[in-house]
Amino acid sequence: MTTLTPKPSFALITLLLPGPDRKRKPSPYHYRITYRNPDPSEPGCVMTWDVLGGREPYQIALERTDAGNTVWHCTCADAVFHGENDHAHHCKHVSGLRDTLPRAA
Ligand SMILES: [Zn+2]
Repeated sequence: MTTLTPKPSFALITLLLPGPDRKRKPSPYHYRITYRNPDPSEPGCVMTWDVLGGREPYQIALERTDAGNTVWHCTCADAVFHGENDHAHHCKHVSGLRDTLPRAA
């Protein structure tokens, strides 16, 4: 386990989500913003986060399409598995983050 030293300008969000163990005991997940587009209305990548606290670290990206819609991406198995067939499905990492960012979604 390495100690992360977030840069002062990068926000760190901590959310309580069902944990990675079988009991799904609520565990703290840490979201660290790794990229933020200065113009979020432009098509392309709006923001990216590192997610720590799960079984392994994940990356979440919020993308704006040319049509102006937003699409969420997460690298966890749940998102990869469901995302191919069901674009309305969001893994717990994305769902939790969306709740904290009502404007982005
Ligand atoms: Zn996920």
